[in-house]
Amino acid sequence: MMQSTMQDFPLGIRHLFLHGRRVHADSQVITWTENGPVTATFAQVGDRADQLAAALARLGVTDGTRVGTFAWNNQHHLEAYLAVPSMGAVLHTLNIRLFPEQLSYVVNHAEDEVLIVDASIAPLLAKVRHELTTVRHIITFGSGDTSGLGPTLDYETLLAAEQPGYDYPYVDERSAAAMCYTSGTTGNPKGVVYSHRSTYLHTFGITSAQAMSLSQHDRMLLIVPMFHANAWGMPYAGWAVGADLVMPQGFLQAGPLVEIIETTRPTFSGAVPTVLNDILHNRPDADLSSLRAVICGGSAVPRSLIEGFEETFGVDVLQAWGMTETSPLAAIAHVPKNTDPADAMSWRVRTGRALPGVEIRICDDAGNELPWDGQAQGEIEIRGPWITAQYHLDPTTEKFHDGWLRTGDVGSMEPNGFIQISDRAKDVIKSGGEWISSVDLENALMGHPAVREAAVVGVPDDRWDERPLACVVLAEGSEFDPAELKGWLEARVAKWWLPERWSRIEEVPKTSVGKFDKKVLRQRYADGGLDVVDLS
Ligand code: ADP
Repeated sequence: MMQSTMQDFPLGIRHLFLHGRRVHADSQVITWTENGPVTATFAQVGDRADQLAAALARLGVTDGTRVGTFAWNNQHHLEAYLAVPSMGAVLHTLNIRLFPEQLSYVVNHAEDEVLIVDASIAPLLAKVRHELTTVRHIITFGSGDTSGLGPTLDYETLLAAEQPGYDYPYVDERSAAAMCYTSGTTGNPKGVVYSHRSTYLHTFGITSAQAMSLSQHDRMLLIVPMFHANAWGMPYAGWAVGADLVMPQGFLQAGPLVEIIETTRPTFSGAVPTVLNDILHNRPDADLSSLRAVICGGSAVPRSLIEGFEETFGVDVLQAWGMTETSPLAAIAHVPKNTDPADAMSWRVRTGRALPGVEIRICDDAGNELPWDGQAQGEIEIRGPWITAQYHLDPTTEKFHDGWLRTGDVGSMEPNGFIQISDRAKDVIKSGGEWISSVDLENALMGHPAVREAAVVGVPDDRWDERPLACVVLAEGSEFDPAELKGWLEARVAKWWLPERWSRIEEVPKTSVGKFDKKVLRQRYADGGLDVVDLS
């Protein structure tokens, strides 16, 4: 092999941190509080991150020590994002919405030694404090009841005892930088461990014009929690390019979000469809004109949402796809060049194309690769330098196939690489040997003005094995009229897809990361807990 002449410079969060702080010293981190915005510059946040690193080192945090965070999106959380990996330790972002038994499981499984805790949510952690076997220190910030946590250290006191100017090491780019557990709708959550290299490459991948097109001229509103797949990578990406970062903490309902947007005027944001739907339905009067785009994913983005945002607010909703295991951004639905503007929407409602850096393919049940013909349906597989190769301390192999990650998502691919996810493998409805896409039915239903949200699940059927049951949350002031909704679908999907069973529900049950929890609906149906109208 011929050696290259290039410097062997390790790819690491250290560089992203030091670059952003030095070159974009005046950029801002704005945390929303009960009393309005609190602003700090990157220079100030950088200094505080140094002090945090020094304080953690004094507590014995060293290479590879796991430091958990239990916090909303705020400046303190960002300080941990910057300091912990840069000092060679591992940032473990804990999902504050996990069920208690899952929360203690992930802290113990990751062997977190120090936890940095937002006092406003300390009671959630207090419930499991006695079960945490590896935690040596708990550091709290902000105000709230921390009495249930036992002895704690005060974040500000620790920082006050240290000076800025921490000497960050150059760590091996393949070593662990951060970790995040999947929400684990079945079984225990699984840990994904990001390396410095994977995070660095993902950061460059998402700032590019192929993805979010981020620059110093942006101001990003981080709605996606920093405890969920690194807030889709936006904290590191925004920091590296000098985009201002607006942190909404727990103010995530339509009312406060609109106030935050109107006051801080972000140019870019990212959120799951539920949050955007909430704004569209409850605050159509909002002024969102500062936003050039909002990236949306985590579940299929309904056409009604993309159209609604465009018509109501003049804001572009960009669909993206990924998962905790993919850092998370893997694909995004930018309209292909030379598309007739009249056809643009037909691309925007699809799942997206792979970012440069990752490869995507679809495979049938036997593991054979399927053609990119827009027709063949198979499981989506993915590989690349920011895709997980295994789970933390978990021998599971069935999620991997010849070096590719099996995503559990089913879909097709167009010749130009656009993927279209039709369902999660476990949610697809198998009727008489054919597949019905629950996602397509939901999207079509959510286009009806009387429907606020719709979840479609497969339920047992004597004749067809499984048939769709449509569960509908009505828009305010609307009547439940299943025959009308069925008629609406008739014009939009194949006849044999039409649900016979209909149920009105108050709310779609959601998982800890805000996805439709169809397992709960299937169980409710099996237990006779749903009022069902049968139109067959
Ligand atoms: P978890 O896997 O813990 O539920 P993730 O955020 O990692 O949480 O979820 C990833 C999954 O979310 C994907 O495998 C896919 O099923 C779904 N998803 C994400 N983005 C989209 C999208 N644009 N369209 C359809 N499904 C999506």
